[in-house]
Amino acid sequence: MTAAPLATLAETAERVNLLGLTRPELEAFVASLGSKPFRARQLMHWMYKRGVDDLAAMTDLARDFRALLGERAEIRTPEIVTAQQAGDGTRKWLLRADSSQAFEMVYIPETDRGTLCISSQVGCALDCSFCATAQQGFNRNLTAAEIVGQVWLANRELGYAPGGDRIITNVVLMGMGEPLANFRSVVPAMRILLDDLGFDLSRRRVTLSTSGLVPQIYKLAEESNVALAVSLHAPDDELRNQLVPINRLHPIAELLAACWHYIDEQNGRSVTFEYVMLEGVNDSPAQARALARLLAGHPAKVNLIPFNPFPGTRYRRSPDAVIAAFRDELLQRGVMATVRRTRGEDIDAACGQLVGRVIDRTTVRLGSRGQVVQI
Ligand code: SF4
Repeated sequence: MTAAPLATLAETAERVNLLGLTRPELEAFVASLGSKPFRARQLMHWMYKRGVDDLAAMTDLARDFRALLGERAEIRTPEIVTAQQAGDGTRKWLLRADSSQAFEMVYIPETDRGTLCISSQVGCALDCSFCATAQQGFNRNLTAAEIVGQVWLANRELGYAPGGDRIITNVVLMGMGEPLANFRSVVPAMRILLDDLGFDLSRRRVTLSTSGLVPQIYKLAEESNVALAVSLHAPDDELRNQLVPINRLHPIAELLAACWHYIDEQNGRSVTFEYVMLEGVNDSPAQARALARLLAGHPAKVNLIPFNPFPGTRYRRSPDAVIAAFRDELLQRGVMATVRRTRGEDIDAACGQLVGRVIDRTTVRLGSRGQVVQI
């Protein structure tokens, strides 16, 4: 990928946020200030290894260079509006996008890992009928700096000490928004998460979750190698058209072909298919068998998600016994399946519950509001 025209950016009144720059972009930026590429590596070390956001504190940078940086650049994370902690230790932050809008991120601690769920957009235009974010509408894409800034900020809020054990071991792009509808910011942000001078996360510990933007999945296969998760939620097109309206543009057969292509290209292990369990809608044994027919023999895992209700929804969560029976049908047919434990329900931080604060600017949407998706 080519670097952004940073010299031009640096010359504008607005200071460049260093957090959103990949290593080549940061090298280009320091070159535009007349400095050597190794300065970019020093900056990354300060920002990501030591968690420093004050340019003046970067004491091994020459004083003149620091002064110039201070004029042209900054390290700016999203601002916290509110922070909440659930009884099970799950934490949720509302982060400011601008004076009137906000998005959310969630940290889920477990015994063997800590997962940070980050957002890629303020709201979402894809209008999935079971999703609280969809009810808010869509306002704008987050920048690469705002995406990377969530991880930086969470590390600080969780008390990560430079050189100490990782607190955030996994990052999932499953918060507000459709990541592949914000391809231009999401891909560089993921590069920074994986860069050994960045957050140095393994590609298997960074997961991008999509509702099924097929052309972008093919493009992603050329540009990234993170783990892929797909919101499937139905075993046939008729039902999926209702639950995930993007299916009208990219039906299940097309979507699965793109998934298998991604795994082939990226030498990946498997695609995770998310399947929210909605009572009486998609949870019958016959639907489990239909799902198994789609996925058996392919590199697929199914993650069954008990539905988390939100105000105004018409759906109910499937009973535990129904979810277990659905899982067993899949397992008996050779499809790997697990049930996701619901976390953070008491602070509305569970899957599908993130709402943020969004002023809807969507002009055209799928689902009940329109027929064509705008991305
Ligand atoms: S499930 Fe994901 S893609 Fe669908 S509306 Fe919600 S945030 Fe958007």
